[in-house]
Amino acid sequence: MDMKVVKSEKKLCPCCMEEHEVKTILMKEQATFKNSKLEYEALYWYCDATDELYMDERQMKENDICLKDAYRKKEGLLTSGQIRDIRAKYGISQGDLCLLLGWGGKTITRYESHQVQDKAHNTILKKIGNDPEWFLSLLNDAKENLSPESYQKYLKAATVLFEKDQDCYLRKAISANYVKYQGNSLFQGNTELSLDKVVDVIRYFAASLKVTNLYKVKLMKLMWYADALSYKKRGFAITGLVYQALPMGAVPVGHNSIIDLKDVPCEEVDMGETNAYHFLLNGEQKFLSLSNEDIKILDIVIEKIGTMSTNEIVDFMHKEQAYLQTSLRDIISFQYAENLQI
Ligand SMILES: [Zn+2]
Repeated sequence: MDMKVVKSEKKLCPCCMEEHEVKTILMKEQATFKNSKLEYEALYWYCDATDELYMDERQMKENDICLKDAYRKKEGLLTSGQIRDIRAKYGISQGDLCLLLGWGGKTITRYESHQVQDKAHNTILKKIGNDPEWFLSLLNDAKENLSPESYQKYLKAATVLFEKDQDCYLRKAISANYVKYQGNSLFQGNTELSLDKVVDVIRYFAASLKVTNLYKVKLMKLMWYADALSYKKRGFAITGLVYQALPMGAVPVGHNSIIDLKDVPCEEVDMGETNAYHFLLNGEQKFLSLSNEDIKILDIVIEKIGTMSTNEIVDFMHKEQAYLQTSLRDIISFQYAENLQI
């Protein structure tokens, strides 16, 4: 007999009616469901004395779910466990998820057990699992019918997922922008783009008490100086960013998206006609993606130019060989880093 022993416990054996160690076993079974021949593993009690199998009510239920899950897998449908996982992502109850979807109150409960969902409902469940933005809009529609505590709980969970998703899209978009520079070591300073390092370099500058009035133009210059100094000292940049020569000096490709990355401490300040972007990070911080060597380089940059005003730093940058030798809007090559003023 092809069986796996799952556990063994002393109990009254239902086969021989004696008390002894009774094994719980898994056995390969075959069954037909909806004209589909299926193989699955079923749970039984096994009595050594009589060499008999016995299935109690709980096992019968679990075995039925296993059979249905085998069918779901074969048909490309979500298994009962996967449906439970989707619900767990949002921390939402079975009944409340039905409410959001406009389904009968017991529908999800049944789908998480013996009842196989149809294709249409399967598509909806998959979509809600992958699309926190849609979940949020359904949640908003159902707000009046949920308890305030439940609403807040689901809102928080879905918002975290949504922001994570957004960051993932943003990172993909920035990386796609950088594909064309791949392998150009003078443009990327011999370093592959690391958005984790980009975020940490910005956070490091924003957290430093020696960096004053950190607005976007100044930040972009500090970043270029950090990468250029790293290249000058070590032969490779820190972040892998590619910098363009703009009228105000060096600016990384994708700068608008970069400041929207998650964990970048950027605050939009209303300046009347335009908005300014201010960067400030308070409190004790960790910079897990930066090495000690990276941080030493950032500290030198901060020491030399951290307290310059935006205008001073733009003037300073305009005297760099890297800037003077590069045509406006062209990519700044790291070959000029050896002549860096710092
Ligand atoms: Zn027995």
